[in-house]
Amino acid sequence: MARYFHEISSGIPLIGHIAFGIVDRGTNLLQVRPSSFCPLSCIFCSVNAGPKSTNRQTEFVVDAEYLVEWFKHVTRVKELEKAHAYIDAVGDPLTYRDIVKLVRLLRESGLAETIAIETHGALLNRRLVDQLDEAGLDRINLSVDSLDPELAKRLSDTPWLDVKRIVDVAEYIASSTKIDLLVAPVWVPGINDHEIPKIIEWALRIGAGKRVPPLGVQKYEAHKYGRRPPGVKPLSWSEFYRELSKWEEQFGVRLKLSPRDFGIRKAKQFPIAFQVGERTSVEVVYWGWLRGQWLGVARDRVVSIVGVLGEPPIGRKVKVRILRNKDNIYVGRIVL
Ligand code: SF4
Repeated sequence: MARYFHEISSGIPLIGHIAFGIVDRGTNLLQVRPSSFCPLSCIFCSVNAGPKSTNRQTEFVVDAEYLVEWFKHVTRVKELEKAHAYIDAVGDPLTYRDIVKLVRLLRESGLAETIAIETHGALLNRRLVDQLDEAGLDRINLSVDSLDPELAKRLSDTPWLDVKRIVDVAEYIASSTKIDLLVAPVWVPGINDHEIPKIIEWALRIGAGKRVPPLGVQKYEAHKYGRRPPGVKPLSWSEFYRELSKWEEQFGVRLKLSPRDFGIRKAKQFPIAFQVGERTSVEVVYWGWLRGQWLGVARDRVVSIVGVLGEPPIGRKVKVRILRNKDNIYVGRIVL
């Protein structure tokens, strides 16, 4: 579990970090990341989130108005009339106490083409769904990895997880709201193989996919800093697609999706502020997201300063060499 908590309402730019703010991957979709918290500790989690996280130092939460200001700023700089707002997290965005307000502000901005939330659903309930519907949410991408209650607890490593309650809310979303539902199970080979066909059958039966495909099966990947279930080997892409083809035939549903299914296309990128290898001066502003990191700011971007020890010298400038700039996410290492 993380030791620190930082609420960002001004002063820190909202481009540059994977754990909070806006992530632009060069398309007309912007990931909007309001909170890094997660209530679950899934055994396959690619970002090692939740109460059982072994590498987190700080969890971040961003003020809703500040976050929407940045959404508007990035959309304009990218010269888009509108962008898809995809609210996701290195955790679960439903941990964000102002999630309804965030959806409403995005809708009122006039710059959101669609607004979607990605969640594992542990914190969903009918009342919240009604509020999100009223605020203008278009879609929930819901990861249900097992319909079997005991296996769902095992996969999420969370004894209190009640998948029956999540199933009930999902059916309510599909039947009684304007919100579209996309069911997105993570397939962990050797653990929930037999659950995936049941989930496909259930998603089709309840009417998921009013405007987009009903299902988006996700492939488990072993990430360097993620959690990896012992003995599980990720499938190759060809094995994965072969199984998807079989299920497509069996259930008469399209499972191999592309960004076009969601109206996503390439778009001008938000300008890159640093080149890899460049030396630059960065002001230290807080503890970093993961252990051994500080948070830095320079040129209106956030930079994760890695390989550091001890307390951050907040307010001081340090020299770093930029190690990564992909997708405007910056990592730098201290140099003398
Ligand atoms: S997979 Fe998602 S819900 Fe599960 S621990 Fe990771 S961030 Fe949380």
